[in-house]
Amino acid sequence: METWKLELLYLGKMRCKKHRMIRTENREETMEIPVTAVLLRHPQYGNILYDTGNAANWASCLPEPTRRDFPITEWISIESALREKGLSPDEIDVLILSHLHFDHVGGLQEFAGTKAGGAVRVSRSELSNALVKAFTGYVGGYVKSLIDVPGITYMPVDQEMELFPGLRLFLQQSHAPGLIGLEVKTEDYGTVLCVSDAVYLQESDEKQLPPDSPNQEVARGFLENLKELRRRRRETGAVILYGHDWKQTEAWVTKKADQSDSRKDNSENVEPTFHGR
Ligand SMILES: [Zn+2]
Repeated sequence: METWKLELLYLGKMRCKKHRMIRTENREETMEIPVTAVLLRHPQYGNILYDTGNAANWASCLPEPTRRDFPITEWISIESALREKGLSPDEIDVLILSHLHFDHVGGLQEFAGTKAGGAVRVSRSELSNALVKAFTGYVGGYVKSLIDVPGITYMPVDQEMELFPGLRLFLQQSHAPGLIGLEVKTEDYGTVLCVSDAVYLQESDEKQLPPDSPNQEVARGFLENLKELRRRRRETGAVILYGHDWKQTEAWVTKKADQSDSRKDNSENVEPTFHGR
């Protein structure tokens, strides 16, 4: 059997300026975004976890500008989210981190000394990028104490791979260098592409709108990656699970996705184009 049981774990929420998520006219508008992780279970291949949410000590470990730009308004530990599913960190077989920003790596310390913590999958280029930043005084999404955790060893991922039957890891060049995405055949949702912060919102996908950034590379990377994701979606008939989409999180955490609307995408044949300002 090649299908996995996918459960979206709700780990709280943050606030941020909307333009940090998607290009918008109003630069003052704020929005609330969910923080999540993905649990994959298979009777033969075990329990896989994708991301870990924010850290218990976020208030003391995040630099002030990060706390100001992304205030955490609700925090749920990965440990308690797993417990609700009848699991402990010890029972996770493989931990995959999409990338090493604080809201994805924060629960890593829960896996210190565990089986999964001994070989945490992360892309090699993202690991290099994050380590250089963390060890050179960078202030932003990468926090040294959350990445350099005693009892945690990383296992770098260099290229697309089949981790287990029905579960592929692929690398995206958007948001972070080598952001790991999952292509997974699931029991309840068909094939799912977990793309993390390469595409924050369903609206980002539908309107082909990158986050707002003075750096033109951000938009270019977003659109190129989206084009590649759309190709993958066409080929696999997949539905995309976005990085920080409130509506989708609500729907998936509480009930099975309504596949009828998320699978139809009549903008599918339109090539992403750069909407310069
Ligand atoms: Zn994020």
